[in-house]
This record gives sequence, C-alpha cells and structure tokens, in this order.
Amino acid sequence: MIDLRSDTVTRPTDGMRKAMAEAEVGDDVYAEDPTATELEQRIAELFGHEAALFVPSGTMGNQIGMRLVCEPGQEVLGDADAHVVTYEMGAAAAIFGISTRTVVSDRGRLDADALVEQVRPRDDWHLTATAAIAVENTHNRGFGRVQPLGELQKLWDWSRSADVAVHLDGARIWNAHAASGVPLATYGRLADTASVCFSKGLGAPVGSVLLASAERIATARLWRKRLGGGMRQVGVLAAACLYALDHHLPRLGEDHEHARLLAERLGQDPATVETNMVVLDDVNASLIAEAAKAGGVLVSQVSARRIRLVTHLDVDRAGIERAADVLNGLLTR
Ligand SMILES: *Cc1c(COP(=O)(O)O)cnc(C)c1O
Repeated sequence: MIDLRSDTVTRPTDGMRKAMAEAEVGDDVYAEDPTATELEQRIAELFGHEAALFVPSGTMGNQIGMRLVCEPGQEVLGDADAHVVTYEMGAAAAIFGISTRTVVSDRGRLDADALVEQVRPRDDWHLTATAAIAVENTHNRGFGRVQPLGELQKLWDWSRSADVAVHLDGARIWNAHAASGVPLATYGRLADTASVCFSKGLGAPVGSVLLASAERIATARLWRKRLGGGMRQVGVLAAACLYALDHHLPRLGEDHEHARLLAERLGQDPATVETNMVVLDDVNASLIAEAAKAGGVLVSQVSARRIRLVTHLDVDRAGIERAADVLNGLLTR
C-alpha cells in the first residue's frame, strides 16, 4: 500500500527506534528527563524563545498555547479553516471557556488586515475582548500553503501596540521553513506562543513542543499536568524527535519535490504545490478513493468532490510514480 492520506502515517525508522531504545531517561514530571530537557532547550533555541515544553500532541500544544494568552470569556480570532477551530473538538470552549471567532480566508492564506479589522478591544463593556490571533503555517486545509512572511510581520508589528497576542500553530512549520528558506527563528520571533509537531513530516511517532517565555512555560507545565499530559520517562519519545531534527528535517525538500512530481504527473501545474500536499478537485472523491485503494494507493477524501494527497518519508520516488500511474488510470477513465 502507498499511503498518501497524511504525513502522520509514517512509522519510526530503524535509526529512530535505535535512538529511542538508547535514550537516557528520568521522571519528566520531576523535570528530570535529560532527553526531554535537551529537546526543549534545543527547540527553544532554534525558534529564539526563552523556553519550551514537550507535550503529547499538537492539539495540546495549541490549546495550552492559546490559554496562556487568552483568559476564559475572551476570544481567539483565526481563520475559518484553522486547525485550532476545525479539528480540535472545540477544546478552547470545552476545556478553557475560551471563545473563538473566525474570518473566512482564501484557502487559509493569512490576511493580516482582514483579521485586524475584526479585533475587538479589551476595554469595551459591550464586547468580547480579542486577546489573541491564531495563525497556521503551513496551512493544513489550505493544502500546505506557506504563509507570506510579509503578512506574518505585518500582523506581528500591529499586535505589539494593540496588546493582542499571536499564537502560531506550527504543526508543519518545518515544511514552511524548507519551502521558503525563512529561518525557524524568524517564524519564532513573530509569535508569542507556538506549537510545533514532530509526528507529521518529521516522522516521529508522538510529540509536539510548545514555545513561549519562561514565565508562560512555567504556567504551561501546570496546564499540561492538569490535562493529564504529565509524562514520566518520556525521553524515549523525545529521542525520536531529536533524531527527526537531525535526520528528517534536512530531507523535507524531497517530500516537496515528490508532491510537485505527483502534481505534474496528474496534469497539474507543479508550481501550485507549495509543500507536501496535492489536491484533486472536481472528482467523485469516494469513487476515486475506493478504486485507488483497490490499486494499492490510499488517499484522503476532504469532501465529496475533493481528494488530498500528502507526501512523506515513507513514500519514495518509485512509490510516487506508481501512485501517479494508478490515479491517472482512474482520472482519465
Ligand atoms: C496535525 C495538526 C495539529 C496537531 O494535531 P495532533 O493530532 O493533535 O498532534 C495542529 N495543527 C495542524 C495544522 C495540524 O495539521
């Protein structure tokens, strides 16, 4: 099976499993796991933040990150397709009493002016105060779109005088970095809180890291424990993430190349593919998905008329070629 449903389906490589098996560990609830601590310090440094916290999932990283900059009864503003409002089960409301409000975007493209226009002040007794704006890079439902650096900078510059925080959902920030060449520290500098994932394109089995100031991360440790995310000898997982940074981050460009190749083979303009996702529009999604599966290719149905294909480190060039052959046979039929 060639599994193009998501970049989360990767399995740890032999090298990664070896690194996990050999990891030095301790009780991380006591902050005594040297490997988790090493990962946190390394990620904080990479993104130019004071501190970081290892969490079990991107959802927990995002939700705690938003809670750090938004009080119950205040709101987080974001785009209507944002992962934090679409795929996180209403956690902001269900767990934290945080209200969310959304602005429809052009397939996830960050539009600083459109968001700023919707911000509501903190000191008006008629209005729900906007405490934070959430941005997503790359954008999942925007099919791997890389956010324009100019828009990120514009939003950040505005937010400093407006007393509104910026939270970055950077589950795939690595892909944005690989595609744009923008340093991770630049993306980090433009956010008060950020969550980055190791279980997507980087190929680790579990793990995300939340970034913020040292003071906020101290609070985040309490929230993580409250939510049941306090983990013990978690160095075995952190080791996978460290391994991914060394061995899988440098190869992400390959996934992007594979996605462009796939698009090209499917008759699309490869220039429209920004990172590791390809979209098939105006297709009978369930029919194609079922027939592709019979041909040994798994794809993701985004809607009745749309299919998503995601490249990752468990599919090599030959697999991409084979998937393209199978899909082409179906699309031209
Ligand atoms: C996958 C993803 C997350 C986090 O998902 P988890 O499954 O909770 O790790 C967050 N944001 C985006 C954009 C994602 O694609």
